[in-house]
Amino acid sequence: VELARLGGDEFTALVPLNQASDRAQEVADLMLSQMSKPLQLSGVPEVTIGGSIGIAIYPADGTSISELIKHADQAMYLAKDAGRGCFRFFTRALQESAEMRVRLAGELRRALDAGQMEVYYQPIVELDSGRITKAEALIRWKHATQGFVSPATFIPIAEDTGTIHELGEWVFEQVLHQTLRWRGILGPDFQVSINISPVQFNSGEQTFLRWIDTLQAAGLPGSNLVIEITEGLLMGTDPGIRDTLLRFRDAGIGVAIDDFGTGYSSLSYLKKFDIDILKIDQSFTRNLAPEGADFALCEAIVVMAHKLGLKVVAEGVETELQRDLLRQIGCDYAQGFLFSRAVPAAEFETLRVDCGQSGEGVKKL
Ligand code: C2E
Ligand code: MG
Ligand code: MG
Repeated sequence: VELARLGGDEFTALVPLNQASDRAQEVADLMLSQMSKPLQLSGVPEVTIGGSIGIAIYPADGTSISELIKHADQAMYLAKDAGRGCFRFFTRALQESAEMRVRLAGELRRALDAGQMEVYYQPIVELDSGRITKAEALIRWKHATQGFVSPATFIPIAEDTGTIHELGEWVFEQVLHQTLRWRGILGPDFQVSINISPVQFNSGEQTFLRWIDTLQAAGLPGSNLVIEITEGLLMGTDPGIRDTLLRFRDAGIGVAIDDFGTGYSSLSYLKKFDIDILKIDQSFTRNLAPEGADFALCEAIVVMAHKLGLKVVAEGVETELQRDLLRQIGCDYAQGFLFSRAVPAAEFETLRVDCGQSGEGVKKL
């Protein structure tokens, strides 16, 4: 066996084997179990380390050194994504998805200039009154040949390649103008929320300070905007996050926790930071049934949130039963296909008109 350090914390092992794939699995298991044994260093409490292994097999997965290393590397990222401390084999599917990512990353950089991006808006309904009082801005990419590409696919790529900063700026500008208009026609309290990726926080406070200045210059009160962040962001130790959130608060901008309940189990951040809204993740809403476990969970989230002075939005509401159960447990707002998908701004305005005429919220409500 030849072992080399490629750089940083990356190592490559060259292992000659017969019946490669079975034996490679054994070798990888052995390496992982050896690595995870606690180490005794003098003067330090016991330390443990771990690793993630990607496996590429010659000649099936490549015939040159560089190709083999590249493919092993891709497989290693798969192992890391799977939670670390495990191994993954390189596969053709993996190669195809890696190639697709590279292609999309390039196309994504040009998509804004090519006019392929649009911001859609999904209504958020106040359960008590059945009125649409908020909207969530969701970016849409109409790819030249592939039709709509899901944000779930391209946002992670934009985060990895840094394009997210440019996209985020653009979404902010669109939302700013849209919200100014809607303030006029939908009422002074209408709120629009923007998703912000943790990566956008990496560039520090500057971006957001500029946003706040831009709002003021445009004459849009902060209270018409909400930013949606995820729990993960608040679990970090970066003190800058707290300062940035305080800036938002000072500017009157609301802060919502998106996908609440899927991230970390620590709730201490709810009192440490100034949060206004919890958005219950769709995975809980989906299985809502009377007396089910998710029903109890949602109810507990609502009670807790209200005790802390927060409002609750349930995401992914698709059925009348779900809506009724949410109303029963006192959830404040609901968002989901039952009411409407995310739609272009002009169409959003007609949704609003519809409910005005029928006098009772949105269609189907
Ligand atoms: P999210 O912020 O949790 O947004 C909610 C997602 O759930 C949206 O998917 C929405 O279309 C979908 N959804 C709404 N109602 C229902 C329902 O009843 N059933 C089901 N199955 N799904 C529903 P979308 O638009 O594909 O966005 C996916 C994620 O991409 C978003 O999750 C958000 O994290 C991210 N994203 C979208 N736009 C932006 C953006 O402008 N900036 C950033 N940083 N992230 C964005
Ligand atoms: Mg969101
Ligand atoms: Mg969500």
